[in-house]
Amino acid sequence: MNTRFADKNFRLSDFYNEVWVVCPSCEKRAIAKANRDARLVRLFCVQCGYNKEVSAAFGKTGALVTAAHGYFDASLWLLARFRNNIVWAYNDKHLAYLKAYIGAGLREHKNRTHYTLLEKLPRFYHEARNREALRKVIERLEQKLN
Ligand SMILES: [Zn+2]
Repeated sequence: MNTRFADKNFRLSDFYNEVWVVCPSCEKRAIAKANRDARLVRLFCVQCGYNKEVSAAFGKTGALVTAAHGYFDASLWLLARFRNNIVWAYNDKHLAYLKAYIGAGLREHKNRTHYTLLEKLPRFYHEARNREALRKVIERLEQKLN
């Protein structure tokens, strides 16, 4: 059975105001999150209490100019190797979006803009022969969501 995937034309910036990262202190999951009103990005870890804030630049749309984790020396929490490539997501919603895309048999693309997240994905994501293996990688990453 084919499931249909309708591209919502998300961009990476739709997801990167909140990025799940490896805590620089305890190496568990922490979150780098933008606070637009305060013009800050904060990296906070509920596990160990690590807490750091830096001032940040925001674009016209309200999204950060660069992804939230980029303000810290922190690596992404949702990151896995796939052959010679890296599969990664900024957060749970981003991962769910990738999963829906990879899992879908029919992929609809509306207006091509060359700016959307899906259009910018490396080629291996789009290849049907990678679908099963990629699905397993995503499932492995899903185990890190809780
Ligand atoms: Zn921590």
